[in-house]
Amino acid sequence: MCVFCQIIKGEIPSYKVYENDKVYAFLDIKPVRPGHVLVIPKNHSANIEEAEAEDLKALAEGVKEVGKILKEKFPCPAYNIILNNGGEAGQEVSHIHFHLIPRFENDGLKLFPEKEEYKEGEAEEIANKLTS
Ligand code: 5GP
Ligand code: ZN
Repeated sequence: MCVFCQIIKGEIPSYKVYENDKVYAFLDIKPVRPGHVLVIPKNHSANIEEAEAEDLKALAEGVKEVGKILKEKFPCPAYNIILNNGGEAGQEVSHIHFHLIPRFENDGLKLFPEKEEYKEGEAEEIANKLTS
């Protein structure tokens, strides 16, 4: 059984932030910033492609609830929502989860690198590939 399924079952302790019949939310054990919360569906699936539509809906609603909790009670004015989907994207636990990371003005956290420009014709080529 995966580590997050064990957390849902209470076999591994966690600091619960929110729970309903379909989702569970708890503090990340190694936060990027204090108040970093993970939101997971109670039904195990590894990633977004494997997850049932019903669980994804519940997950999105759970993220919204936890976002409200963070804004009202942490409190923070904003937060990032991140899903690492697959190992190469940084996913370490193979049970789909959203990260919610509290943000403050000028907090110095940089989650995205500098952006690049497309080369001549590159955007068109990629768009064609993705839609053919
Ligand atoms: P990923 O890299 O898969 O997107 O994120 C997995 C997250 O789960 C990491 O941020 C890591 O700190 C957190 N994590 C891993 N094991 C545990 C655990 O046993 N308890 C809690 N609360 N968080 C965990
Ligand atoms: Zn699991």
